[in-house]
Amino acid sequence: MTERKIPVAILGATGAVGQRMVQLLADHPWFEVVALTGSERTIGRPYGELVRWVLDGAPPPRLAELVVQSSDTPLDVAIALSALPTDVAQRVEPLWAAQVAVCSNASAYRMTPDVPLIIPEVNPDHLELLAQQRRQRGWRGCLVTNPNCSAIGVAMVMRPLHDAFGIERAHIATLQALSGAGYPGVPSLDIIDNIIPNIADGGEELKIEQEPRKLLGTLGAAAIEPAALSISAQVTRVPVIDGHTALLSLGCSRRPAPDEALAVLEGFVPPPVVRNLPSAPRPTIVVHRAGDRPQPRRDRDAGAGMAASVGRVRACPLLDLRLVVLSHNTIRGAAGGAILNAELLAAAGLLA
Ligand code: NAP
Repeated sequence: MTERKIPVAILGATGAVGQRMVQLLADHPWFEVVALTGSERTIGRPYGELVRWVLDGAPPPRLAELVVQSSDTPLDVAIALSALPTDVAQRVEPLWAAQVAVCSNASAYRMTPDVPLIIPEVNPDHLELLAQQRRQRGWRGCLVTNPNCSAIGVAMVMRPLHDAFGIERAHIATLQALSGAGYPGVPSLDIIDNIIPNIADGGEELKIEQEPRKLLGTLGAAAIEPAALSISAQVTRVPVIDGHTALLSLGCSRRPAPDEALAVLEGFVPPPVVRNLPSAPRPTIVVHRAGDRPQPRRDRDAGAGMAASVGRVRACPLLDLRLVVLSHNTIRGAAGGAILNAELLAAAGLLA
């Protein structure tokens, strides 16, 4: 990379995901945060004065001094990392993408045919859609999205299993952390001593059923051909602060013995273009053989919050294989995932 750092804006920098981006980029080797944006509520005031910091410690001093700017007006940066709410992202992200590379967490454009939905370790080749996106939309920049916070960990673990055994059916039950609902999120009287068996009125389940099919799909001439895989998802919100757990049962075209599946998971190495990105975890997948792991409190920070942890890999009496997946929802599942996508764009020479 060049010695001058690449200028980056964080859109929606005051929210739960935006704060993670601020934290993760405070000392990044390639990127320098030069702008933070918010809503009418926060525009015009120094970030450090107005942000209700929900992470450990305090906002990085240099970034605390930046005055929050409008999310509506594209600024002179190379990359915009978006942590905007979906409805705002729908309106604002194309304005930025006309000029700069937008890496978005929002769900607004994930399933749009010419928008790559990317996990660098899973489907970096899908970035080839950007040539078509730029040509058709006349953008100098581009728009790339990262998946739903549960779909990310699930797809990271599915990738090597699908390549080896051909996943045809999946049942996925999730236990999702509170930080996934943003701040202030779920009222304490709803979630303490409780589990809520619904998120976003069924919308979360739809994302987990659709997004892995695009992620594991193949690059066609004009769009991604989704993987021929049917998924049934059931989601719950649980009283955990960070770390989404997913319980998977998989039916495959070739039934794997658990030891075979473990060997495939332990042997997973991401494509070469991804291996040396600054935020790429090594290993990508942490495999547990102890019977009581992975656990959110103990394992969510694996690979600085960027790895997927997997355990309890066993034969399934209903389908073929069952296992437990854990990933950090605001790091790998959101802020860190968008940053890794931005690193991939930079390494692949795809910035405007
Ligand atoms: P959040 O805590 O509610 O933060 C929302 C951010 O957007 C704040 O910075 C807020 O700024 C800004 N904003 C709100 N209304 C706006 C407007 N009208 N114009 C401009 N900016 C506005 O939400 P979050 O949990 O960080 O989630 C952000 C996005 O990431 C969402 O699309 C979410 O679905 C997605 N996501 C979240 C997670 C997760 O684990 N939390 C995981 C994956 C994806 P002010 O503070 O100034 O109001």
